[in-house]
Amino acid sequence: MDVLNGSVLTVDGIIDGYVCIENGKVAAVEEGKPPEKPLASGMVIPPMVNAHTHCADAGLKVPPGMAVEDLVAPPNGLKHVYLKGLDDRALEKNITEYARSSFSNGIGAFIDFREGGEKGCRVLRKAVREAVIMGRPLSEEYDEHEISRILDVADGIGLSSISDMDHRYIEKIADQVRTRGKLFSLHASERIREDIDFILSLDPAFVIHMTEAADSDILKCAESEVPIVVCARSNMYYRKTPPVKKMLAFGADIALGTDNAMMGSPDMRAEASAFRDILLSQGGTLDDVIGPMFSNGRKILYTHKKVHISVGMPADLTVLPYSGEFSMDGVLRERGKAFRYDPKRRNSIEF
Ligand SMILES: [Zn+2]
Repeated sequence: MDVLNGSVLTVDGIIDGYVCIENGKVAAVEEGKPPEKPLASGMVIPPMVNAHTHCADAGLKVPPGMAVEDLVAPPNGLKHVYLKGLDDRALEKNITEYARSSFSNGIGAFIDFREGGEKGCRVLRKAVREAVIMGRPLSEEYDEHEISRILDVADGIGLSSISDMDHRYIEKIADQVRTRGKLFSLHASERIREDIDFILSLDPAFVIHMTEAADSDILKCAESEVPIVVCARSNMYYRKTPPVKKMLAFGADIALGTDNAMMGSPDMRAEASAFRDILLSQGGTLDDVIGPMFSNGRKILYTHKKVHISVGMPADLTVLPYSGEFSMDGVLRERGKAFRYDPKRRNSIEF
């Protein structure tokens, strides 16, 4: 039997206790002192899902204070010029290092908006098996065959925004993604308010940002059960503040994403710290960080997997370090490596 102890994320909240693992499965979740020496101590959680990334631009150094369109708008934003100039080896290196850093921070999967068409998706799939890939077509005209080839390797399609593209083009892509049973998503109301009725008509699995959304737009997302992925550090770079307290008050599910690798480390603790600061400034509480940080990204991805730790589930678990007594602030402050328990090998994974 293996034991992980500390603070355990259960469906009833975080308990002070331990998890026993037998034959790769969670055999017990108990409060109190562990029965034997634990393999690792800290905040015991299922591996986190980073719900929005662009991993390929990890090597780009961003000058401070650039406008969002100058930096990331296709095709001439600095990021796209950088990606076009990147050879395959440099791209693979960016991606591999980004993934390694993600895993060592307790992230089990990241949902990546991969630029560069089918080829861009293949590079990521080859480098990182666990990546959830949202491809982006290169063709400016709707090309059924290109979308089909992207969906052969990717998990879905992720578009920049409805402001950058013809609506009919976006609708055709969204229809094709739905027919294939894959994920469709896009950035929404990041720079300017966009037509939420049109966005929701595309049946997105989730939308990203909503920094410029009106109250009614947020409410519509909540009513349609479309989660909102908040990228607080990325928004702060552009001097935007996501209305996170309102999102919660209206009942929207919030997941967190670290967005562009060039701006934010793949560390949900750093991301959640920025989210917490905004949330508290808007009158929210620290408890409201737990769902967005630990559970809601998993909900987007795994309809068949548990988001909390319970008896019988595969012991694919992560332990985030913290020092001293447990506090969410302590977990968010810590930058040490996470411990990952692998149920197949029945021990820890070295990153
Ligand atoms: Zn993005």
